[in-house]
Amino acid sequence: MQLKQKIDQLTDQCVKCGMCLPSCPTYQLSKNENESPRGRIALMQGIVKGELSLSPNVIQHLDHCLGCLSCEKICPSKVEYETLIDAIREYTVTENKISFQEKLISFLIKPTVQNNLFSLLRFYQRSGIQKLLRFAGLLKLIGLSKQEQLLPKLYTRLKLQPSYSAKQNSLGSVALFTGCMGQHFEQAAIVASIKVLTQLGYDVEIPKQVCCGALHQHSGFRQQADALAKTNARFLLNKSYQAILFTASGCGAQLKTSLQQDQVSVSSLMDFILQHTRKHPVSFARIEQAVAVHQPCSLQNTLKQSDAVILLLSKIPQLEIIELQSQCCGAAGKNMLSQTKLANQIRQPLLEQIQQTSADVVVSSNIGCALHLTAGLQSKRPVIHPIELIAESLQ
Ligand code: SF4
Ligand code: SF4
Repeated sequence: MQLKQKIDQLTDQCVKCGMCLPSCPTYQLSKNENESPRGRIALMQGIVKGELSLSPNVIQHLDHCLGCLSCEKICPSKVEYETLIDAIREYTVTENKISFQEKLISFLIKPTVQNNLFSLLRFYQRSGIQKLLRFAGLLKLIGLSKQEQLLPKLYTRLKLQPSYSAKQNSLGSVALFTGCMGQHFEQAAIVASIKVLTQLGYDVEIPKQVCCGALHQHSGFRQQADALAKTNARFLLNKSYQAILFTASGCGAQLKTSLQQDQVSVSSLMDFILQHTRKHPVSFARIEQAVAVHQPCSLQNTLKQSDAVILLLSKIPQLEIIELQSQCCGAAGKNMLSQTKLANQIRQPLLEQIQQTSADVVVSSNIGCALHLTAGLQSKRPVIHPIELIAESLQ
């Protein structure tokens, strides 16, 4: 089916009831109909029916969408909003109408460029160029200072063995999907995951893998996303694992959809461990801390596995759990780079919530959210993956 025809049919599912409006973060911020799910669907309809052109203004309203899917979750007509927003972005790409910033970021996430990007960024941080540019204010001049501030300290890529053996009688073999960012930005979470899984009795394999393709898929570069999905399927499905586990929920949501097969479970690490504790006794040592739990949209609305984080953390004696009010952090994949001002505005109430708590630490199961929250909290509270607390407490 042609892209335009597909969008036209999908937009027809919307009965314009408006029930999704209160749950949409961008509508809540602006009170502008064009910044709401219903408004965006109307814009899409106008575009594919030829009544509206892909003007910069129209594209901006579509680009502002965070892809949080709070609207899809609540919609009584079951409008397939994620399919729609991905499709209209793909249409925008095919019409060559994406903005300069989107073009730049889309270039940077190209698999061929991405492979060298982290080495370049490490060089940028270590060579003194970063300090020089910040000092000279050049980043402000080219409008990239806010995006640059999001960049955490980059460590040398974590060197992982192809496999790690269970520390007790093996219960089976699992694959760990670390994603393209995990080995650079989430090293502690990956080390913790391997520790927990092997201690619980699983052989852990780190199969060859490429980027999950989420950023490509949600930016309209479907062909690139499909190519990455095919490569991952080749690497991950050539062996029979008990489960394919992921640490980052954004990657996991994409992986689960793109692998599209029922033979093996693709699951969040926290959910897998929770299921394990239901069948096998596991004892946890106490942690006398308060933890604020941020639930990423991809975990809540796409994977629907957010309960596992709370249920598993609740097993740690003395750990005080503060559930943050369910709310998108604004990171939204590459939006925190391409729509920095909006991403920061959406994040602000969440930062205020965190600051009002007595939390010693914040946990988030998605790398993008964790980076965005870390930048906003400016080192006032560490943001870690919940598996790190599980690893610390596992006896
Ligand atoms: S809730 Fe669903 S049907 Fe109602 S306006 Fe929103 S998208 Fe359309
Ligand atoms: S995905 Fe999120 S930001 Fe986008 S329209 Fe739906 S609720 Fe609003």
